[in-house]
Amino acid sequence: MRVVVVGGGIGGLALGAGLRRSGHEVVVFDRDTDVAATGGYHITLDERAQSALRRLVAPEVVRRLLASGSALRLRDRDLFWDYRGRVLGHGLDLSGSASIDVDRITLRTLLAEAVGADLHLGRAVSGVGVDDRGMPRVLFADAPPVTADLVVGADGTHSVVARHLAAGPTNRPAGIIGFSGRTSRADLTAAEQHRLGTRSSMAIGPRGAALYVGFLDPVGNAALDAPELSASITTGPTYIWGAMFPESARTDFLRDLHGTALRTALLDRFRDHRWAGHTLEVIARTDPGSVAAFRFNAASTRAADLAPWAAGRITALGDAVHATPPTAGMGAGAAIQDAADLLAQLDTVPDGGATVTDAIGRYEAQMRRRGGEVLSAAMSTVRLILATNTPLGALATAALCPVVAAATRLRRPPSRPVRAMSVSGPDATP
Ligand SMILES: Cc1cc2nc3c(=O)[nH]c(=O)nc-3n(C[C@H](O)[C@H](O)[C@H](O)COP(=O)(O)OP(=O)(O)OC[C@H]3O[C@@H](n4cnc5c(N)ncnc54)[C@H](O)[C@@H]3O)c2cc1C
Repeated sequence: MRVVVVGGGIGGLALGAGLRRSGHEVVVFDRDTDVAATGGYHITLDERAQSALRRLVAPEVVRRLLASGSALRLRDRDLFWDYRGRVLGHGLDLSGSASIDVDRITLRTLLAEAVGADLHLGRAVSGVGVDDRGMPRVLFADAPPVTADLVVGADGTHSVVARHLAAGPTNRPAGIIGFSGRTSRADLTAAEQHRLGTRSSMAIGPRGAALYVGFLDPVGNAALDAPELSASITTGPTYIWGAMFPESARTDFLRDLHGTALRTALLDRFRDHRWAGHTLEVIARTDPGSVAAFRFNAASTRAADLAPWAAGRITALGDAVHATPPTAGMGAGAAIQDAADLLAQLDTVPDGGATVTDAIGRYEAQMRRRGGEVLSAAMSTVRLILATNTPLGALATAALCPVVAAATRLRRPPSRPVRAMSVSGPDATP
């Protein structure tokens, strides 16, 4: 079968690699000119996403990914803070977790290598349609159309393909604007290094201000202890932070700022919300070149609303269908699982005698269910953040934080799981 994939992000490349490995003819088009010249920080891949990847790429690629990823089981237990730096609670025990965090650029580069010459960069698709024989094709503003047996839109939140299928947008702004940056742990004071620790944490304050600080250490906390296989672009302990505010006319100007000016404006905004100075050090000492703004878009949390079209020879996957805010760290993993499910369904076509349309219908049913799940998880955090932005929510946050913090101090903190950092656990081996 000849498949054209529109979009060489995480889901499109995963599908391209899987199709190629299964002997299908595949072409992946992406408008970017360099897979590594892309934005993004860390991506979380849980056990289900890793299992899907194992069905799509060669074992060696999975080993290189694990050697380039930071194992969640090796970091300290996550913490929840308030805006004054008081501990509100502890995260789940991750000592048995198989999940990893990996640089988006590293993941994309490894997948692009697996797709090889079938990835065509610098090719922006302008539309999709059908030819005289009813076969699907993709259109370009500057080149002739390309026809296929199946076209898959893996072109992200603003998908041309999904918009064509749904006859309109498949997602909308979630009401939150986010800002990200990367800070080397070594650039923080010893006190702040100690406070943040080798863990991820989330801090909330009144008026919808929130700060996620993720910990990434693909060298010290590698999921697979095989440095010779590592392709990681992060070479030391690093905090990836994400600042969030409700989107409003007062946040619009932030989207036009860059670098040091954006960093300064963010710090001012947190100070206006009365955040304690030390909680902002991770932003104050960030590399200004790494600071970027992005808007959260979300599709419906109802599975039945997703992919609202009849199955056919044009379909879509990932954010194109179920655009997911990064608040649950599940968007990329869901796109990879979509790719694995689609490949499994396509592989039934010649042997099982099923038609392409039947196979796509079964795949879309699986994708709708998963999309609803990941969106529900991501939107629960979005709703919590937005709830602190109401007059009552702001009062409750300010009043309850000290009470919850005092109660947390009285409880014994969970002990840190002890593990040998240089030894890879059983779940690190593909
Ligand atoms: C720049 C960027 C940075 C991100 N950073 C993070 C992060 O730090 N943490 C996190 O959890 N999630 C991040 N995400 C989101 C996460 O990567 C996605 O949720 C996940 O990868 C979903 O995968 P996808 O394949 O559906 O879409 P994406 O990975 O977004 O891929 C879509 C691809 O389609 C291409 N494309 C779009 N339109 C066209 C067109 N008309 N023609 C050709 N190509 C097109 C884009 O160039 C892109 O490569 C980021 C996404 C992007 C695009």
